[in-house]
Amino acid sequence: LSGDSNKLSTTEKEVERALRPLSFEDFTGQFKVVENLKIFVAAASKRGEALDHVLLHGPPGLGKTTLSHIVANELAANIKVTSGPVLDKPSDLAGLLTNLDERDVLFIDEIHRLNPIVEEYLYSAMEDYKIDIVLDAGPNARTVQISLNPFTLIGATTRAGLLTSPLRARFGINARLEYYDAQLLTSIVQRSSAILDTPIDDEAAYEIARRSRGTPRIANNLLRRTRDFAQIKGDGRITVAIAKMGLDALDVDQNGLDEMDNRILNTIISKFKGGPVGLSTIATACGEEAETIEEVYEPFLIQEGYIKRTSRGREATEQAYKHLGVVSPHRAGQ
Ligand code: ATP
Repeated sequence: LSGDSNKLSTTEKEVERALRPLSFEDFTGQFKVVENLKIFVAAASKRGEALDHVLLHGPPGLGKTTLSHIVANELAANIKVTSGPVLDKPSDLAGLLTNLDERDVLFIDEIHRLNPIVEEYLYSAMEDYKIDIVLDAGPNARTVQISLNPFTLIGATTRAGLLTSPLRARFGINARLEYYDAQLLTSIVQRSSAILDTPIDDEAAYEIARRSRGTPRIANNLLRRTRDFAQIKGDGRITVAIAKMGLDALDVDQNGLDEMDNRILNTIISKFKGGPVGLSTIATACGEEAETIEEVYEPFLIQEGYIKRTSRGREATEQAYKHLGVVSPHRAGQ
């Protein structure tokens, strides 16, 4: 049930692909980002130019890869997909870049993890659509410049803070994806169950949605698992009773928090008396990097009202105590 698509089996990957929206019209939520992208894509198409480079950032599973495929579809262009850690040396990147047709999209996931040498190589490709290639070695070595077709780089990252400023500056379009509220996720669950040909009650779709940590990928995973329960324990229809039975059996948190979310809350409450406590102290106690907590976990916990950011550090709210079933010191003193 983790949010990591790399751990899925081949069949599950196929299902995930089937559930992936293919056009802006199919894509639910992120209204501002989508509205802007629609305009930029339409304008670039009207001028017959490549779309400006796009940086998509935000927590995992919110639709960065999906949106990149949609942008390529809407540009009527091809998309080549790679990721930062895979591009080991400049020649790996050169191979991809020289094979792009005019207006194609190159999608680099986890772009904050690019090798610095490869990253530097990307600068001139992004800026002037040119790259330098070194031919031969030793005294015969010479550099030739190769012109590339105008293309669009779409970079995706969960850790925008880790991008170097020269790289960040080369993206003309910069968009942050936000968590989805339960209502939007309910529509996503309903759309996905229609694609999977599984009837679902509205209340059941909402139950799955509200326990999905604001994340479409998790909502789709939970839908697939509750569909199994409906087929084995029921008549195939996902009712709210079936959804609850499935989610409880899978140990999905009542409010959709994941293990690390709960660990963070537990740490603040039981080790630091509810805070305020500094981010790096929480990170050490949880065995996670401070940046990851700040960029992946904390935004959701703050949005849902479990923690507060104060000038003296992070504080657990009344709701966090309630969630963990711990009596808060404020209550105890009343
Ligand atoms: P990561 O960076 O972790 O790879 P991501 O942000 O690229 O995540 P995607 O792979 O695009 O996320 O989306 C995960 C799944 O969620 C996809 O299979 C897609 O079907 C679904 N999904 C994402 N966003 C939406 C949406 N707005 N509407 C419907 N389905 C969505």
